[in-house]
Amino acid sequence: MAKKRIIWHLLPYYILIIFLALISVTWYASKAVKDFHKKDISRSLEERAGIVSMHLSSGFAGLTSAAIDSLCDEYGDRSEMRLTVIDPGGVVLGDSEEDPARMENHADRPEVRKALSGSIGISERYSGTLKRNFLYVAVPLESENIILGTVRASIPLTEVEGSLSVMYRRLFIAGVVAALISAILSILVSRRISNPLEEMKKGIEHFEGEDLDYRIPTYGLAEVGELARVINDMASKLRNRIDTVESQKSEQEAVFQAIPEGILVVNSDEKIVRMNPGASKLLGLTPEEACGRSIQEVVRSQQLQEFVAETLSSDIPVETDFALRFGVESTFIQARGVTLNSVSGNGTGAVIVLNNVTRIRKLENVRKEFVANVSHELRTPVTAIRGFVETLLDGAIDSPAESKKFLSIIDRQADRMSSIINDLLLLAQVEGGEEAGSLRFEKTKIREILDDARQVCSVKGAEKNIIIEVDCDEDLEGRANPALLEQAVINLVENAVKYSEKDSKVTVKAFQENAYLAVEVIDRGCGIEPENQARLFERFYRIDKARSRKLGGTGLGLAIVKHIAGVHGGRVSVESKFGKGSVFKIRIPRK
Ligand code: ADP
Repeated sequence: MAKKRIIWHLLPYYILIIFLALISVTWYASKAVKDFHKKDISRSLEERAGIVSMHLSSGFAGLTSAAIDSLCDEYGDRSEMRLTVIDPGGVVLGDSEEDPARMENHADRPEVRKALSGSIGISERYSGTLKRNFLYVAVPLESENIILGTVRASIPLTEVEGSLSVMYRRLFIAGVVAALISAILSILVSRRISNPLEEMKKGIEHFEGEDLDYRIPTYGLAEVGELARVINDMASKLRNRIDTVESQKSEQEAVFQAIPEGILVVNSDEKIVRMNPGASKLLGLTPEEACGRSIQEVVRSQQLQEFVAETLSSDIPVETDFALRFGVESTFIQARGVTLNSVSGNGTGAVIVLNNVTRIRKLENVRKEFVANVSHELRTPVTAIRGFVETLLDGAIDSPAESKKFLSIIDRQADRMSSIINDLLLLAQVEGGEEAGSLRFEKTKIREILDDARQVCSVKGAEKNIIIEVDCDEDLEGRANPALLEQAVINLVENAVKYSEKDSKVTVKAFQENAYLAVEVIDRGCGIEPENQARLFERFYRIDKARSRKLGGTGLGLAIVKHIAGVHGGRVSVESKFGKGSVFKIRIPRK
């Protein structure tokens, strides 16, 4: 239904009220005017008829009809009214306007009847003779208390009607003017109401267009102004809420994007709604490729598909582990899933968090392998010691030669155990120091470190007549932990001596290489085959286990060197030609 504007609600009622008022005023006023005029006229008619009646009564009996008629004409002319004289039988004896002979009997006229009965008769009537409304007043014509007839005076009511029609015309003009004024008033009033409403509509349109900083003017009518103030308050509260929601949203978005774990949001149809860069990286998919498509379509892993379905059907958070395979590489995933509930409590989807635990798994394996290796390395000397102790207890102790032989084997095995334990402790110490941040690095004269290392290894070198030469500038300096760097050089020099033939030469060289300090240990020994070079620095890795053991090796020496280079922010490498010799090189930043 078309809505009416305010003005059309006001104007018809205003006009109706004005017309009702005008009609009632007109009705009342016309009645009052009429009554007033009639009373006035009838009094004057009565007076004039009375005078005529008095004149006639004295010699009435002697007057002829013609004389009476001419008297009527004369009096009628003078007093500007119609005069009629009627005998007691109702016969018209004289009339100022008409010929009495042609006039009918008037005995039935109410005013005549009343006058003939002795009182004054007044009546208003339409005169068929003169075709007008007339007011008639009849007075008795009497002489010595005998009623001789009646004198009737009458006058047309045109004057009354004339003044009434003037009044009607004026009232009509007043009505039209009042209607015009009321139309103007209703326009003004409706504007006063509708303008603030229009302002309010404009304001709400601004708010709809998300311009919540717009303010509706609050002047004008108190009620409307109050309403505008309430709407403005509402808009400012809404602005605050939206600001809060938006800042929360951007915080959440930043967390969503920055979190390293993969996050997948799926809807109840298992379609991907959102994914973060972590999930993109893990699944090898861009959000553009994945969003809007079902998990079955875009992810090959059956376990992940089943996990999504399980999460969607579960009321509690669920967890699982599985491997994602891309070619030969496997990524181990720990997945957690939780359903998303709408306000009404219905499940609308799920959030899946994917954690890449490949590194942890690998570290666990390294740890397990390490424990197995340590046990294995220690078991050999322990078994040997126990075996020889038993042999001694079983009687060999009685033979001094055998005792000496077995005890020296026991001594060697104990030495071996002690070296393994020392190396393990050293490794643990380097790792522990690194983790605790307690390793101290200082400006160190490299030449001193190399000389000390040569000193330590000189005995073993001398046993094989191997010359250990040091080639380093006196004032070459580097930032290092002196004890650890010396230990690394000792390990390398010991290896160089171990794996060189007699009468050979080992060179220890240190020099500046761009921003790095390089320490090289060069031997002319057996060298290392290329396929073994990559694994040399692993813990317990040895190319020839028996030979290493014979030479008192633990398989941890190079692992320690690698670790020490690492804590200095550098690395260790090897270049070797099988049968010709090897060059082990430590490179650490100078500053
Ligand atoms: P080990 O205690 O057995 O020497 P390392 O970790 O020091 O243990 O060395 C690992 C392995 O690397 C050795 O067993 C050996 O086979 C090889 N190796 C180390 N240094 C040399 C070298 N200078 N020349 C040849 N082979 C070497």
